Amino acid sequence: MGKLIGIDLGTTNSLVCIWEDGKSKLIPNAFGEYLTPSVVGFGEKGEVFVGKTAKERLVTDPGNTYEFFKRNMGKKTHGKYTPEELSSFVLRSLKADAENYLGEPVEEAVISVPAYFDDKARKATKNAGALAGLKVERIINEPSAAALGYLKGEGDNNADGEERVMLIFDFGGGTLDVSLVETFENVVEIVSVSGDNVLGGLDFDKVIADYFIKEAGLDKDKVSHQEYNIILKASEKAKRELTDSTSSKIEVRSDELSGSVEITNKKLIDISAPVLKKIYKPVQDLLRNSGYTPESLTDVIMVGGSSKMPIIKHYLEHILNRDDICVESPDYMIAIGMGVYAGIKERDDDVKDVILTDVCPFSMGVSIHNPMNPNKCLSSFIISRNTALPISHTQLYHPVADKQKSVKFEIFQGEEYLSDLNKTLGTIEIKLPAEVTTQTQIFVTFSYDINGILVVDIAIPEFKITRNKVIVNEEIDYTEEFIEKKVGELNKLKMIDRNEEEDRQIVEWGSRLFAQTSGLLKIDIEKKLAKFQQVVYRREDIYNKIRLRNYMKKYLLHVEAMMIKECFNFEDDSWQDDEDKIVDEIFSDWEDE
Ligand code: ADP
Ligand code: MG
Repeated sequence: MGKLIGIDLGTTNSLVCIWEDGKSKLIPNAFGEYLTPSVVGFGEKGEVFVGKTAKERLVTDPGNTYEFFKRNMGKKTHGKYTPEELSSFVLRSLKADAENYLGEPVEEAVISVPAYFDDKARKATKNAGALAGLKVERIINEPSAAALGYLKGEGDNNADGEERVMLIFDFGGGTLDVSLVETFENVVEIVSVSGDNVLGGLDFDKVIADYFIKEAGLDKDKVSHQEYNIILKASEKAKRELTDSTSSKIEVRSDELSGSVEITNKKLIDISAPVLKKIYKPVQDLLRNSGYTPESLTDVIMVGGSSKMPIIKHYLEHILNRDDICVESPDYMIAIGMGVYAGIKERDDDVKDVILTDVCPFSMGVSIHNPMNPNKCLSSFIISRNTALPISHTQLYHPVADKQKSVKFEIFQGEEYLSDLNKTLGTIEIKLPAEVTTQTQIFVTFSYDINGILVVDIAIPEFKITRNKVIVNEEIDYTEEFIEKKVGELNKLKMIDRNEEEDRQIVEWGSRLFAQTSGLLKIDIEKKLAKFQQVVYRREDIYNKIRLRNYMKKYLLHVEAMMIKECFNFEDDSWQDDEDKIVDEIFSDWEDE
Protein backbone atom coordinates (compact mmCIF):
# COMPACT_ATOMS: atom_id res chain seq x y z
CA MET A 1 0.00 0.00 0.00
CA GLY A 2 1.25 3.47 -0.84
CA LYS A 3 1.75 6.17 1.71
CA LEU A 4 -1.14 8.13 3.14
CA ILE A 5 -0.66 11.89 3.35
CA GLY A 6 -2.16 14.31 5.87
CA ILE A 7 -3.22 17.67 4.49
CA ASP A 8 -4.05 20.95 6.21
CA LEU A 9 -6.02 22.65 3.44
CA GLY A 10 -6.04 26.18 4.83
CA THR A 11 -7.81 29.34 3.75
CA THR A 12 -4.50 31.16 3.41
CA ASN A 13 -1.86 28.43 3.45
CA SER A 14 -1.86 24.68 2.95
CA LEU A 15 0.56 22.02 4.14
CA VAL A 16 1.24 18.33 3.68
CA CYS A 17 2.65 15.95 6.26
CA ILE A 18 3.41 12.25 6.57
CA TRP A 19 4.14 9.85 9.40
CA GLU A 20 7.73 8.69 9.13
CA ASP A 21 10.22 7.14 11.55
CA GLY A 22 7.85 7.36 14.46
CA LYS A 23 6.95 10.99 14.09
CA SER A 24 5.11 13.49 12.01
CA LYS A 25 7.14 14.98 9.20
CA LEU A 26 6.32 18.10 7.18
CA ILE A 27 7.02 17.92 3.45
CA PRO A 28 8.57 20.92 1.68
CA ASN A 29 7.29 22.30 -1.63
CA ALA A 30 9.42 23.13 -4.68
CA PHE A 31 10.82 26.15 -2.84
CA GLY A 32 11.85 24.11 0.17
CA GLU A 33 9.05 25.75 2.16
CA TYR A 34 6.33 24.05 4.20
CA LEU A 35 3.63 26.64 3.58
CA THR A 36 2.04 26.67 0.15
CA PRO A 37 -0.24 29.71 -0.21
CA SER A 38 -3.79 28.61 -1.09
CA VAL A 39 -3.80 30.79 -4.18
CA VAL A 40 -4.54 29.61 -7.71
CA GLY A 41 -4.12 31.58 -10.91
CA PHE A 42 -4.68 30.94 -14.59
CA GLY A 43 -2.55 32.18 -17.46
CA GLU A 44 -3.59 32.99 -21.00
CA LYS A 45 -2.24 29.76 -22.42
CA GLY A 46 -4.07 27.53 -19.99
CA GLU A 47 -1.27 27.44 -17.44
CA VAL A 48 -2.19 26.98 -13.80
CA PHE A 49 -0.22 28.74 -11.11
CA VAL A 50 -0.39 27.55 -7.53
CA GLY A 51 1.02 28.87 -4.26
CA LYS A 52 3.87 31.32 -4.10
CA THR A 53 3.94 31.82 -7.88
CA ALA A 54 0.21 32.49 -8.00
CA LYS A 55 0.49 34.88 -5.07
CA GLU A 56 2.69 37.23 -7.12
CA ARG A 57 -0.08 37.30 -9.71
CA LEU A 58 -2.58 38.67 -7.20
CA VAL A 59 -0.85 41.97 -7.93
CA THR A 60 -0.15 41.56 -11.65
CA ASP A 61 -3.26 39.65 -12.77
CA PRO A 62 -5.90 39.90 -10.03
CA GLY A 63 -8.75 39.09 -12.41
CA ASN A 64 -7.50 35.57 -13.06
CA THR A 65 -6.09 34.79 -9.65
CA TYR A 66 -8.14 33.34 -6.82
CA GLU A 67 -7.68 33.19 -3.06
CA PHE A 68 -9.85 32.60 0.02
CA PHE A 69 -12.00 30.10 -1.90
CA LYS A 70 -12.14 27.78 1.09
CA ARG A 71 -14.64 30.22 2.58
CA ASN A 72 -17.11 29.23 -0.13
CA MET A 73 -16.58 25.50 -0.07
CA GLY A 74 -19.86 23.86 -1.01
CA LYS A 75 -21.38 27.28 -1.66
CA LYS A 76 -20.78 29.76 -4.46
CA THR A 77 -18.31 29.75 -7.31
CA HIS A 78 -15.43 32.08 -8.04
CA GLY A 79 -15.71 33.28 -11.60
CA LYS A 80 -15.56 30.20 -13.81
CA TYR A 81 -14.40 27.91 -11.03
CA THR A 82 -15.96 26.18 -8.06
CA PRO A 83 -14.06 26.21 -4.76
CA GLU A 84 -13.69 22.42 -5.21
CA GLU A 85 -11.90 22.89 -8.50
CA LEU A 86 -9.65 25.64 -7.18
CA SER A 87 -8.85 23.58 -4.09
CA SER A 88 -8.09 20.58 -6.25
CA PHE A 89 -5.17 22.48 -7.79
CA VAL A 90 -3.74 23.21 -4.35
CA LEU A 91 -4.16 19.52 -3.50
CA ARG A 92 -2.49 18.46 -6.75
CA SER A 93 0.46 20.62 -5.93
CA LEU A 94 0.77 19.17 -2.40
CA LYS A 95 0.36 15.66 -3.80
CA ALA A 96 3.20 16.32 -6.26
CA ASP A 97 5.42 17.56 -3.41
CA ALA A 98 4.72 14.42 -1.41
CA GLU A 99 5.37 12.20 -4.43
CA ASN A 100 8.61 13.99 -5.09
CA TYR A 101 9.65 13.49 -1.47
CA LEU A 102 8.59 9.84 -1.29
CA GLY A 103 9.61 8.86 -4.80
CA GLU A 104 6.37 6.99 -5.33
CA PRO A 105 2.78 7.78 -6.29
CA VAL A 106 0.38 8.91 -3.57
CA GLU A 107 -3.29 8.07 -3.86
CA GLU A 108 -4.79 8.49 -0.42
CA ALA A 109 -5.12 11.41 1.93
CA VAL A 110 -6.76 12.68 5.07
CA ILE A 111 -7.74 16.35 4.98
CA SER A 112 -8.61 18.73 7.80
CA VAL A 113 -11.54 21.16 7.78
CA PRO A 114 -12.91 23.65 10.32
CA ALA A 115 -15.12 22.02 12.94
CA TYR A 116 -18.05 24.20 11.89
CA PHE A 117 -17.97 23.02 8.25
CA ASP A 118 -21.37 21.56 7.41
CA ASP A 119 -21.90 18.36 5.48
CA LYS A 120 -21.97 20.16 2.18
CA ALA A 121 -18.61 21.81 2.77
CA ARG A 122 -17.14 18.50 3.97
CA LYS A 123 -18.39 16.69 0.88
CA ALA A 124 -17.04 19.48 -1.31
CA THR A 125 -13.63 19.00 0.32
CA LYS A 126 -13.77 15.28 -0.42
CA ASN A 127 -14.74 16.06 -3.99
CA ALA A 128 -11.78 18.43 -4.31
CA GLY A 129 -9.62 15.48 -3.31
CA ALA A 130 -11.25 13.29 -5.97
CA LEU A 131 -10.57 15.94 -8.61
CA ALA A 132 -6.91 15.94 -7.57
CA GLY A 133 -6.74 12.16 -7.88
CA LEU A 134 -6.79 11.58 -4.14
CA LYS A 135 -9.05 9.23 -2.29
CA VAL A 136 -9.96 11.07 0.88
CA GLU A 137 -9.94 8.50 3.66
CA ARG A 138 -11.34 10.82 6.24
CA ILE A 139 -12.10 14.44 6.93
CA ILE A 140 -10.69 15.53 10.29
CA ASN A 141 -11.65 18.59 12.29
CA GLU A 142 -8.85 21.12 12.54
CA PRO A 143 -8.99 21.46 16.36
CA SER A 144 -8.78 17.66 16.75
CA ALA A 145 -5.77 17.70 14.44
CA ALA A 146 -4.14 20.50 16.45
CA ALA A 147 -4.69 18.50 19.66
CA LEU A 148 -3.20 15.38 18.05
CA GLY A 149 -0.22 17.32 16.79
CA TYR A 150 0.35 18.85 20.21
CA LEU A 151 0.09 15.54 22.04
CA LYS A 152 1.59 13.08 19.57
CA GLY A 153 3.54 14.98 16.92
CA GLU A 154 6.78 13.54 18.22
CA GLY A 155 5.32 10.08 18.76
CA ASP A 156 3.27 8.49 21.51
CA ASN A 157 5.86 9.09 24.22
CA ASN A 158 4.68 12.62 24.47
CA ALA A 159 1.20 11.61 25.50
CA ASP A 160 0.69 10.67 29.10
CA GLY A 161 -2.91 9.53 28.69
CA GLU A 162 -3.95 11.99 31.38
CA GLU A 163 -7.24 13.74 30.96
CA ARG A 164 -6.87 17.14 29.40
CA VAL A 165 -9.18 20.00 28.63
CA MET A 166 -7.64 22.09 25.90
CA LEU A 167 -8.70 25.37 24.44
CA ILE A 168 -7.50 25.55 20.86
CA PHE A 169 -7.30 29.10 19.56
CA ASP A 170 -6.81 28.95 15.79
CA PHE A 171 -6.27 32.38 14.26
CA GLY A 172 -5.59 32.23 10.53
CA GLY A 173 -5.74 34.63 7.62
CA GLY A 174 -9.49 35.06 7.47
CA THR A 175 -11.02 33.08 10.30
CA LEU A 176 -10.87 32.65 14.04
CA ASP A 177 -11.89 29.24 15.38
CA VAL A 178 -11.92 28.55 19.08
CA SER A 179 -12.60 25.02 20.24
CA LEU A 180 -12.68 23.08 23.43
CA VAL A 181 -11.13 19.67 23.05
CA GLU A 182 -11.08 17.03 25.76
CA THR A 183 -8.63 14.17 25.53
CA PHE A 184 -8.46 11.10 27.66
CA GLU A 185 -6.34 8.09 26.82
CA ASN A 186 -7.17 7.44 23.18
CA VAL A 187 -10.25 9.60 22.86
CA VAL A 188 -10.10 13.09 21.40
CA GLU A 189 -13.42 14.81 21.70
CA ILE A 190 -14.47 18.25 20.57
CA VAL A 191 -16.76 19.45 23.29
CA SER A 192 -17.69 22.78 21.86
CA VAL A 193 -16.80 25.11 19.03
CA SER A 194 -17.14 28.80 18.50
CA GLY A 195 -15.54 31.40 16.30
CA ASP A 196 -15.85 34.23 13.89
CA ASN A 197 -15.51 33.33 10.24
CA VAL A 198 -14.93 36.87 9.09
CA LEU A 199 -12.08 37.69 11.45
CA GLY A 200 -8.43 37.00 10.71
CA GLY A 201 -4.98 38.29 9.92
CA LEU A 202 -6.35 40.02 6.84
CA ASP A 203 -8.36 42.36 9.05
CA PHE A 204 -5.12 43.61 10.59
CA ASP A 205 -3.61 44.05 7.12
CA LYS A 206 -6.61 46.19 6.18
CA VAL A 207 -6.41 48.26 9.34
CA ILE A 208 -2.71 48.87 8.65
CA ALA A 209 -3.42 49.67 4.98
CA ASP A 210 -6.04 52.24 5.99
CA TYR A 211 -3.58 53.73 8.42
CA PHE A 212 -1.01 53.98 5.63
CA ILE A 213 -3.51 55.62 3.29
CA LYS A 214 -4.40 58.16 5.95
CA GLU A 215 -0.85 58.90 7.07
CA ALA A 216 0.44 59.11 3.50
CA GLY A 217 -2.30 61.64 2.78
CA LEU A 218 -3.97 59.57 0.07
CA ASP A 219 -7.62 59.61 -0.90
CA LYS A 220 -8.99 56.13 -0.29
CA ASP A 221 -11.63 56.47 -3.01
CA LYS A 222 -8.97 57.21 -5.57
CA VAL A 223 -6.80 54.23 -4.75
CA SER A 224 -7.25 51.60 -7.48
CA HIS A 225 -7.82 47.93 -6.81
CA GLN A 226 -4.28 47.11 -7.89
CA GLU A 227 -2.78 49.89 -5.79
CA TYR A 228 -4.76 48.77 -2.80
CA ASN A 229 -3.41 45.24 -3.23
CA ILE A 230 0.12 46.63 -3.26
CA ILE A 231 -0.54 48.58 -0.06
CA LEU A 232 -2.14 45.51 1.50
CA LYS A 233 0.89 43.41 0.72
CA ALA A 234 3.22 46.00 2.22
CA SER A 235 0.97 46.18 5.27
CA GLU A 236 1.12 42.44 5.77
CA LYS A 237 4.88 42.58 5.58
CA ALA A 238 4.99 45.35 8.19
CA LYS A 239 2.64 43.32 10.39
CA ARG A 240 4.91 40.28 10.24
CA GLU A 241 7.93 42.40 11.13
CA LEU A 242 6.11 43.48 14.26
CA THR A 243 6.32 39.88 15.51
CA ASP A 244 9.99 40.24 16.37
CA SER A 245 10.46 43.96 16.71
CA THR A 246 8.59 46.81 18.32
CA SER A 247 8.35 48.90 15.19
CA SER A 248 8.38 48.47 11.42
CA LYS A 249 7.63 50.40 8.24
CA ILE A 250 4.92 50.13 5.64
CA GLU A 251 6.79 50.81 2.42
CA VAL A 252 5.14 51.31 -0.94
CA ARG A 253 6.85 52.37 -4.12
CA SER A 254 5.25 52.08 -7.51
CA ASP A 255 4.55 54.22 -10.54
CA GLU A 256 1.66 56.18 -9.15
CA LEU A 257 2.12 55.62 -5.49
CA SER A 258 4.85 55.89 -2.99
CA GLY A 259 5.25 56.38 0.71
CA SER A 260 6.71 55.07 3.91
CA VAL A 261 4.87 55.04 7.21
CA GLU A 262 6.24 53.82 10.51
CA ILE A 263 4.15 51.62 12.75
CA THR A 264 4.71 50.19 16.23
CA ASN A 265 2.98 47.41 18.12
CA LYS A 266 1.57 50.06 20.41
CA LYS A 267 0.11 51.95 17.47
CA LEU A 268 -1.26 48.69 16.08
CA ILE A 269 -3.14 48.06 19.32
CA ASP A 270 -4.66 51.53 19.03
CA ILE A 271 -5.77 51.34 15.42
CA SER A 272 -6.93 47.73 15.56
CA ALA A 273 -8.95 48.02 18.78
CA PRO A 274 -12.27 47.29 17.02
CA VAL A 275 -10.77 44.14 15.46
CA LEU A 276 -9.08 43.00 18.67
CA LYS A 277 -12.31 43.40 20.58
CA LYS A 278 -14.02 40.88 18.32
CA ILE A 279 -11.79 38.12 19.69
CA TYR A 280 -13.43 38.34 23.08
CA LYS A 281 -16.90 37.10 22.18
CA PRO A 282 -16.11 33.71 20.63
CA VAL A 283 -13.76 32.87 23.52
CA GLN A 284 -16.37 33.91 26.05
CA ASP A 285 -19.16 32.03 24.24
CA LEU A 286 -17.07 28.89 24.12
CA LEU A 287 -16.38 28.92 27.84
CA ARG A 288 -19.98 29.70 28.67
CA ASN A 289 -21.38 26.96 26.41
CA SER A 290 -19.02 24.33 27.69
CA GLY A 291 -19.19 25.36 31.34
CA TYR A 292 -15.45 25.67 31.85
CA THR A 293 -13.67 28.51 33.56
CA PRO A 294 -10.32 29.75 32.20
CA GLU A 295 -8.52 28.31 35.27
CA SER A 296 -9.99 24.85 34.76
CA LEU A 297 -8.40 24.39 31.33
CA THR A 298 -5.27 22.23 31.34
CA ASP A 299 -3.84 23.74 28.15
CA VAL A 300 -4.42 26.81 26.03
CA ILE A 301 -2.88 26.30 22.61
CA MET A 302 -2.56 29.00 19.99
CA VAL A 303 -2.25 27.88 16.37
CA GLY A 304 -2.54 29.60 12.96
CA GLY A 305 -0.26 32.26 11.50
CA SER A 306 -1.95 35.20 13.21
CA SER A 307 -1.27 33.64 16.61
CA LYS A 308 2.31 34.77 16.09
CA MET A 309 1.29 38.38 16.64
CA PRO A 310 2.50 39.37 20.11
CA ILE A 311 -0.51 41.60 20.63
CA ILE A 312 -2.86 38.63 20.17
CA LYS A 313 -1.07 36.52 22.75
CA HIS A 314 -1.11 39.42 25.21
CA TYR A 315 -4.79 39.95 24.62
CA LEU A 316 -5.59 36.29 25.18
CA GLU A 317 -3.43 36.19 28.31
CA HIS A 318 -5.39 39.15 29.52
CA ILE A 319 -8.89 37.79 28.87
CA LEU A 320 -8.09 34.32 30.21
CA ASN A 321 -5.91 35.63 33.01
CA ARG A 322 -3.23 33.02 32.31
CA ASP A 323 0.48 33.27 31.62
CA ASP A 324 1.06 29.71 30.39
CA ILE A 325 -0.40 29.94 26.89
CA CYS A 326 1.41 27.74 24.38
CA VAL A 327 2.37 29.10 20.95
CA GLU A 328 4.45 26.29 19.52
CA SER A 329 4.89 25.91 15.74
CA PRO A 330 1.58 27.72 15.21
CA ASP A 331 1.92 27.50 11.42
CA TYR A 332 2.41 23.76 11.45
CA MET A 333 0.48 22.30 14.37
CA ILE A 334 -2.63 21.25 12.44
CA ALA A 335 -0.56 19.72 9.64
CA ILE A 336 1.58 17.89 12.20
CA GLY A 337 -1.61 16.47 13.68
CA MET A 338 -2.73 15.39 10.22
CA GLY A 339 0.58 13.56 9.84
CA VAL A 340 -0.15 11.81 13.14
CA TYR A 341 -3.55 10.78 11.87
CA ALA A 342 -2.02 9.50 8.63
CA GLY A 343 0.23 7.32 10.83
CA ILE A 344 -2.76 6.05 12.76
CA LYS A 345 -4.55 5.18 9.52
CA GLU A 346 -1.49 3.31 8.31
CA ARG A 347 -1.60 1.37 11.58
CA ASP A 348 1.91 2.33 12.45
CA ASP A 349 2.93 0.72 15.74
CA ASP A 350 4.61 3.91 16.90
CA VAL A 351 1.31 5.62 17.35
CA LYS A 352 -1.74 4.11 19.01
CA ASP A 353 -5.15 4.36 17.48
CA VAL A 354 -7.31 7.24 18.62
CA ILE A 355 -11.01 7.79 18.51
CA LEU A 356 -11.85 11.18 17.09
CA THR A 357 -15.30 12.45 17.67
CA ASP A 358 -17.00 15.06 15.58
CA VAL A 359 -19.60 17.54 16.65
CA CYS A 360 -22.92 18.30 15.09
CA PRO A 361 -22.52 21.86 13.82
CA PHE A 362 -26.26 22.69 14.02
CA SER A 363 -29.34 21.72 16.01
CA MET A 364 -32.08 19.45 14.69
CA GLY A 365 -35.60 18.82 15.84
CA VAL A 366 -39.29 18.83 14.97
CA SER A 367 -41.90 21.56 14.85
CA ILE A 368 -44.59 21.53 17.52
CA HIS A 369 -47.93 23.20 18.16
CA ASN A 370 -47.74 26.78 19.36
CA PRO A 371 -50.53 27.42 21.88
CA MET A 372 -50.10 31.19 21.50
CA ASN A 373 -50.34 31.19 17.72
CA PRO A 374 -51.47 27.98 15.95
CA ASN A 375 -50.17 29.28 12.60
CA LYS A 376 -46.62 29.59 13.77
CA CYS A 377 -45.14 26.32 14.99
CA LEU A 378 -42.42 26.28 17.62
CA SER A 379 -39.12 24.45 17.39
CA SER A 380 -38.56 21.46 19.63
CA PHE A 381 -34.86 20.58 19.55
CA ILE A 382 -33.92 16.90 19.72
CA ILE A 383 -30.22 17.08 18.91
CA SER A 384 -28.58 20.29 19.96
CA ARG A 385 -25.75 21.98 18.24
CA ASN A 386 -22.22 21.05 19.30
CA THR A 387 -23.07 17.58 20.61
CA ALA A 388 -20.48 14.92 19.90
CA LEU A 389 -21.26 12.48 17.07
CA PRO A 390 -22.55 9.88 16.57
CA ILE A 391 -25.56 10.64 18.71
CA SER A 392 -28.98 9.19 19.26
CA HIS A 393 -31.60 10.99 21.30
CA THR A 394 -35.28 10.37 22.03
CA GLN A 395 -37.95 12.85 22.99
CA LEU A 396 -41.54 12.29 24.11
CA TYR A 397 -44.52 14.11 22.55
CA HIS A 398 -48.32 13.97 22.96
CA PRO A 399 -51.23 14.75 20.64
CA VAL A 400 -52.73 18.20 21.19
CA ALA A 401 -56.33 16.92 21.37
CA ASP A 402 -58.27 13.71 22.00
CA LYS A 403 -59.34 11.92 18.81
CA GLN A 404 -56.81 13.90 16.80
CA LYS A 405 -56.83 12.39 13.29
CA SER A 406 -53.12 12.61 12.54
CA VAL A 407 -49.79 14.01 13.65
CA LYS A 408 -47.36 15.68 11.33
CA PHE A 409 -43.69 16.03 12.22
CA GLU A 410 -41.77 18.57 10.28
CA ILE A 411 -38.07 17.80 10.67
CA PHE A 412 -35.73 20.76 10.61
CA GLN A 413 -32.17 21.85 11.11
CA GLY A 414 -31.32 25.24 12.58
CA GLU A 415 -31.35 27.33 15.70
CA GLU A 416 -34.52 29.42 15.33
CA TYR A 417 -37.25 29.47 17.94
CA LEU A 418 -39.98 29.63 15.32
CA SER A 419 -39.83 26.46 13.27
CA ASP A 420 -40.61 28.12 9.91
CA LEU A 421 -37.35 30.00 10.00
CA ASN A 422 -35.29 26.81 10.09
CA LYS A 423 -34.34 24.62 7.15
CA THR A 424 -36.84 21.80 6.56
CA LEU A 425 -35.27 18.39 6.00
CA GLY A 426 -38.45 16.36 5.59
CA THR A 427 -41.84 15.55 7.05
CA ILE A 428 -43.48 12.47 8.50
CA GLU A 429 -47.24 12.29 8.84
CA ILE A 430 -48.93 9.49 10.80
CA LYS A 431 -52.65 8.72 10.84
CA LEU A 432 -53.91 8.13 14.38
CA PRO A 433 -56.65 5.70 15.50
CA ALA A 434 -59.83 7.11 17.01
CA GLU A 435 -58.85 6.04 20.54
CA VAL A 436 -56.02 8.54 20.68
CA THR A 437 -55.95 10.93 23.65
CA THR A 438 -53.70 13.71 24.84
CA GLN A 439 -52.09 11.07 27.08
CA THR A 440 -50.92 8.97 24.11
CA GLN A 441 -47.13 8.74 24.03
CA ILE A 442 -45.24 9.45 20.82
CA PHE A 443 -41.51 8.80 20.96
CA VAL A 444 -39.33 10.52 18.38
CA THR A 445 -35.73 9.39 18.08
CA PHE A 446 -33.08 11.19 16.05
CA SER A 447 -29.82 9.39 15.26
CA TYR A 448 -27.12 11.28 13.45
CA ASP A 449 -23.61 10.24 12.41
CA ILE A 450 -20.49 11.83 11.00
CA ASN A 451 -21.56 11.03 7.46
CA GLY A 452 -24.45 13.44 7.72
CA ILE A 453 -27.14 10.77 7.78
CA LEU A 454 -30.11 11.47 10.01
CA VAL A 455 -32.35 8.55 10.95
CA VAL A 456 -35.72 9.49 12.42
CA ASP A 457 -37.70 6.79 14.26
CA ILE A 458 -41.20 7.40 15.51
CA ALA A 459 -42.91 4.95 17.86
CA ILE A 460 -46.40 5.01 19.34
CA PRO A 461 -46.29 1.87 21.54
CA GLU A 462 -49.95 2.10 22.58
CA PHE A 463 -51.06 1.36 18.99
CA LYS A 464 -47.95 -0.54 17.90
CA ILE A 465 -47.22 2.11 15.29
CA THR A 466 -43.64 2.63 14.15
CA ARG A 467 -42.27 4.80 11.38
CA ASN A 468 -38.78 5.35 10.13
CA LYS A 469 -37.25 7.84 7.77
CA VAL A 470 -33.65 8.21 6.66
CA ILE A 471 -32.65 11.70 5.65
CA VAL A 472 -29.38 12.05 3.82
CA ASN A 473 -28.26 15.61 3.88
CA GLU A 474 -28.43 17.17 0.46
CA GLU A 475 -26.69 14.83 -1.91
CA ILE A 476 -23.68 16.29 -3.64
CA ASP A 477 -21.41 13.32 -3.97
CA TYR A 478 -19.74 13.34 -7.36
CA THR A 479 -20.42 10.34 -9.54
CA GLU A 480 -17.49 8.38 -10.99
CA GLU A 481 -18.52 9.62 -14.40
CA PHE A 482 -18.60 13.23 -13.33
CA ILE A 483 -15.17 12.98 -11.70
CA GLU A 484 -13.71 11.44 -14.84
CA LYS A 485 -15.17 14.14 -17.03
CA LYS A 486 -14.06 16.93 -14.71
CA VAL A 487 -10.57 15.53 -14.24
CA GLY A 488 -10.29 15.34 -18.02
CA GLU A 489 -11.23 19.01 -18.28
CA LEU A 490 -8.89 20.08 -15.51
CA ASN A 491 -6.05 18.08 -16.99
CA LYS A 492 -6.24 20.25 -20.08
CA LEU A 493 -5.04 23.10 -17.93
CA LYS A 494 -1.36 22.74 -17.44
CA MET A 495 0.08 22.63 -13.95
CA ILE A 496 3.61 23.90 -13.82
CA ASP A 497 6.15 21.15 -13.55
CA ARG A 498 7.72 21.04 -10.11
CA ASN A 499 11.17 21.53 -11.69
CA GLU A 500 10.09 24.69 -13.43
CA GLU A 501 8.30 26.10 -10.44
CA GLU A 502 11.23 28.17 -9.22
CA ASP A 503 11.77 29.80 -12.62
CA ARG A 504 8.09 30.61 -12.96
CA GLN A 505 8.08 32.18 -9.54
CA ILE A 506 11.10 34.32 -10.40
CA VAL A 507 9.32 35.55 -13.53
CA GLU A 508 6.13 36.35 -11.58
CA TRP A 509 8.12 37.96 -8.80
CA GLY A 510 10.04 40.11 -11.29
CA SER A 511 6.77 41.05 -13.02
CA ARG A 512 5.32 42.19 -9.73
CA LEU A 513 8.37 44.34 -8.92
CA PHE A 514 8.19 45.67 -12.46
CA ALA A 515 4.61 46.75 -11.77
CA GLN A 516 5.58 48.33 -8.49
CA THR A 517 8.56 50.37 -9.62
CA SER A 518 9.18 53.26 -11.95
CA GLY A 519 11.82 54.94 -14.08
CA LEU A 520 15.22 53.43 -14.67
CA LEU A 521 14.71 50.69 -12.15
CA LYS A 522 11.64 49.53 -14.02
CA ILE A 523 13.63 49.37 -17.24
CA ASP A 524 16.45 47.50 -15.57
CA ILE A 525 14.07 44.89 -14.16
CA GLU A 526 12.41 44.48 -17.53
CA LYS A 527 15.73 43.95 -19.29
CA LYS A 528 16.97 41.38 -16.83
CA LEU A 529 13.66 39.60 -16.76
CA ALA A 530 13.49 39.36 -20.54
CA LYS A 531 16.97 37.86 -20.64
CA PHE A 532 16.20 35.49 -17.85
CA GLN A 533 13.14 34.24 -19.70
CA GLN A 534 15.14 33.78 -22.90
CA VAL A 535 17.62 31.63 -21.06
CA VAL A 536 15.14 29.70 -19.06
CA TYR A 537 12.77 28.90 -21.86
CA ARG A 538 15.12 28.59 -24.82
CA ARG A 539 18.47 27.40 -23.67
CA GLU A 540 19.14 23.83 -22.73
CA ASP A 541 22.19 24.83 -20.77
CA ILE A 542 21.39 23.62 -17.24
CA TYR A 543 24.60 24.98 -15.78
CA ASN A 544 23.89 28.54 -16.84
CA LYS A 545 20.27 28.17 -15.90
CA ILE A 546 21.20 27.51 -12.29
CA ARG A 547 23.68 30.37 -12.24
CA LEU A 548 21.12 32.76 -13.66
CA ARG A 549 18.44 31.60 -11.30
CA ASN A 550 20.60 32.35 -8.28
CA TYR A 551 21.61 35.65 -9.80
CA MET A 552 18.01 36.70 -10.41
CA LYS A 553 16.93 35.80 -6.90
CA LYS A 554 19.67 37.93 -5.40
CA TYR A 555 18.91 40.74 -7.79
CA LEU A 556 15.19 40.78 -7.01
CA LEU A 557 15.85 40.64 -3.28
CA HIS A 558 18.20 43.57 -3.73
CA VAL A 559 15.57 45.48 -5.70
CA GLU A 560 13.05 44.86 -2.97
CA ALA A 561 15.48 46.10 -0.34
CA MET A 562 16.31 49.18 -2.42
CA MET A 563 12.63 49.95 -2.93
CA ILE A 564 12.34 50.18 0.81
CA LYS A 565 15.27 52.54 1.05
CA GLU A 566 13.51 54.71 -1.54
CA CYS A 567 16.49 55.03 -3.83
CA PHE A 568 18.08 52.74 -6.30
CA ASN A 569 21.76 53.17 -6.93
CA PHE A 570 22.90 51.39 -10.08
CA GLU A 571 26.50 51.70 -8.99
CA ASP A 572 25.80 49.69 -5.88
CA ASP A 573 26.91 46.15 -6.61
CA SER A 574 27.36 45.13 -2.99
CA TRP A 575 24.80 42.38 -3.50
CA GLN A 576 26.97 40.68 -6.11
CA ASP A 577 29.73 38.23 -5.39
CA ASP A 578 32.36 37.23 -7.99
CA GLU A 579 30.07 34.64 -9.50
CA ASP A 580 27.28 37.19 -9.93
CA LYS A 581 29.66 39.56 -11.67
CA ILE A 582 30.46 36.86 -14.17
CA VAL A 583 26.79 36.23 -14.73
CA ASP A 584 26.25 39.95 -15.17
CA GLU A 585 28.76 39.86 -18.00
CA ILE A 586 27.10 36.85 -19.56
CA PHE A 587 23.86 38.79 -19.44
CA SER A 588 25.29 41.73 -21.34
CA ASP A 589 26.67 39.40 -24.01
CA TRP A 590 23.18 38.28 -24.83
CA GLU A 591 22.14 41.75 -25.82
CA ASP A 592 21.21 40.82 -29.37
CA GLU A 593 19.07 37.77 -28.79
P1 ADP B 1 -5.18 29.80 7.33
O1 ADP B 1 -5.48 28.90 8.45
O2 ADP B 1 -6.24 30.82 7.05
O3 ADP B 1 -4.73 29.10 6.10
P2 ADP B 1 -2.61 30.58 8.47
O4 ADP B 1 -2.74 29.86 9.74
O5 ADP B 1 -1.57 30.11 7.51
O6 ADP B 1 -3.98 30.75 7.73
O7 ADP B 1 -2.35 32.13 8.81
C1 ADP B 1 -2.20 33.07 7.81
C2 ADP B 1 -2.19 34.45 8.46
O8 ADP B 1 -1.11 34.51 9.38
C3 ADP B 1 -2.00 35.57 7.47
O9 ADP B 1 -2.96 36.58 7.73
C4 ADP B 1 -0.61 36.08 7.79
O10 ADP B 1 -0.48 37.47 7.56
C5 ADP B 1 -0.48 35.76 9.25
N1 ADP B 1 0.91 35.64 9.70
C6 ADP B 1 1.83 34.76 9.28
N2 ADP B 1 3.01 34.98 9.88
C7 ADP B 1 2.83 36.03 10.71
C8 ADP B 1 3.66 36.76 11.61
N3 ADP B 1 4.93 36.44 11.77
N4 ADP B 1 3.11 37.77 12.31
C9 ADP B 1 1.83 38.11 12.14
N5 ADP B 1 0.99 37.47 11.30
C10 ADP B 1 1.48 36.45 10.60
MG1 MG C 1 -5.57 27.17 9.35
